[in-house]
Amino acid sequence: MRHRIAVVGAGPAGLTFARVLHRHDHRVTVLERDPAPDARPPGGSLDLHEGLGQLALGKAGLLAEFEALSRPEGQAMRILDADGTVLRDWQARPGDRANPEIDRGQLRDLLLGPLDVQWGRRVTEVVPGTRDGVLVRFADGRQEMFDLVVGADGAWSRVRPAVSSATPHYTGVTLVETSLDDVDTRHPDLARLIGDGSVAVYGVNRNLAAQRNSGGHVKVYAQFRAPLDWHTTLVRHSGPDAGLDLADGEAVRSSLLALFDGWAAPVLDLLRRGTAFAHRPLYVLPAPHTWTHVPGVTLLGDAAHLMPPLGAGANLAMLEGAELAEAVAAAPGPGDLDEAVRAFEEQMWARAGRWAEMTTAGLERLVSPDPAAALALFDEVQPS
Ligand SMILES: Cc1cc2nc3c(=O)[nH]c(=O)nc-3n(C[C@H](O)[C@H](O)[C@H](O)COP(=O)(O)OP(=O)(O)OC[C@H]3O[C@@H](n4cnc5c(N)ncnc54)[C@H](O)[C@@H]3O)c2cc1C
Repeated sequence: MRHRIAVVGAGPAGLTFARVLHRHDHRVTVLERDPAPDARPPGGSLDLHEGLGQLALGKAGLLAEFEALSRPEGQAMRILDADGTVLRDWQARPGDRANPEIDRGQLRDLLLGPLDVQWGRRVTEVVPGTRDGVLVRFADGRQEMFDLVVGADGAWSRVRPAVSSATPHYTGVTLVETSLDDVDTRHPDLARLIGDGSVAVYGVNRNLAAQRNSGGHVKVYAQFRAPLDWHTTLVRHSGPDAGLDLADGEAVRSSLLALFDGWAAPVLDLLRRGTAFAHRPLYVLPAPHTWTHVPGVTLLGDAAHLMPPLGAGANLAMLEGAELAEAVAAAPGPGDLDEAVRAFEEQMWARAGRWAEMTTAGLERLVSPDPAAALALFDEVQPS
């Protein structure tokens, strides 16, 4: 018997799940709130680890295509101190495919392939335990029934309340993102500063990093410790209102330049020349996040274990998607399906719990009163 399976969310977790099921000739309904694949900017480049994201792509039969698209040279990493002195300069070694980078848009298109995603379908609620299965309600008032609903709908999951009362909390660290385009032609000095991969500078409770994406696009991230409402309490030097208007890009730029005041001019140029600023306070779920198994509903990726962005979230999301798909494909009947999901959850919780601990400790060191703590962290993880 074929199960009625839905996955909510067409991010890395949901698409990998659907693509691996597709490879096993199983039907899956992919429900995504965005009206189209390119409705939003896809976000920064991702490094896919050999034992995580790349393993998942192997299970989807997409490793060769990934190798053709990805940028192994993007593994390069340079660390400067606040006065611009180069402290470390790691280059990717020839043939090193441990963590090659890929643009999120390219990864999404690779995973999408033949999948038939239902775009513009915002889920509002999932109700397990009804007589006919699991009920899914949509923002447009429609509803549908499935045997298994997989919540791969990210940090603010609408599926999560069906299994858990946990909600994300603020880490105390905020990230503001900006970007540069055509860096090699329009900003050759910054292109040299960034190199083939990333450059980062660590100060007291703050850091600034820039990362190459393909096509000369660069993402710049300013990270700092601050209360969630930091922008409302800033005293402006002009204008009638207290506080910073986050929609006012020039005001955000000025406040960041003040925050990083005294850092080397080329480093500050990353902020001076950035276009459009996005405010992203970092939230996490309590870790480890587990729940009492609920037949017919489970979670993947950020919906299950939102953690600090230290290069693991998308990788875990993809591997979980692939593993759950394989488990579901191997389950012949309804009873087997539930047992397969239960066993998958145990495995996911154990692994994600370890990564949540590592990334939480990592964030403490990267945004720390002691900038040397960040350097020591990189020395531990970079190949010598
Ligand atoms: C600045 C930054 C840098 C990062 N860098 C890395 C990195 O280098 N490597 C790495 O592994 N991870 C990285 N991460 C983490 C990574 O982005 C996430 O862990 C990953 O995107 C999680 O994938 P997901 O599929 O679980 O969720 P998401 O990517 O959030 O996808 C969820 C999908 O669900 C859809 N959705 C949401 N609500 C609904 C609804 N109600 N109905 C229908 N659809 C819905 C959304 O539109 C979206 O398409 C980074 C994160 C940040 C913030």
